[in-house]
Amino acid sequence: MDCELCNSTGGLLLWQEDFCKVVPVEDDEHPGTCRVILNRHTREMTDLTCAERTRLMHAVFATQAAMREIAAPDAAALAARLRRHMQS
Ligand SMILES: [Zn+2]
Repeated sequence: MDCELCNSTGGLLLWQEDFCKVVPVEDDEHPGTCRVILNRHTREMTDLTCAERTRLMHAVFATQAAMREIAAPDAAALAARLRRHMQS
């Protein structure tokens, strides 16, 4: 099958289970972007059963939650640092 996502890991494997995996996307304009990839080839989201859609979205939300934990800037801390740098 000529499918790039099925024929390779798709990138650095961050997490994997029997249903799907999560890999980072190399994109300089959007750092921190990840891709959730099903292990079995599926053309469209609507080809999934309702249970599979729910399982997939759980993985998507878990990935976003993890990314926010490590990447989301704390606005108050950022403002304090900015003030400190602007004063010096
Ligand atoms: Zn595929």
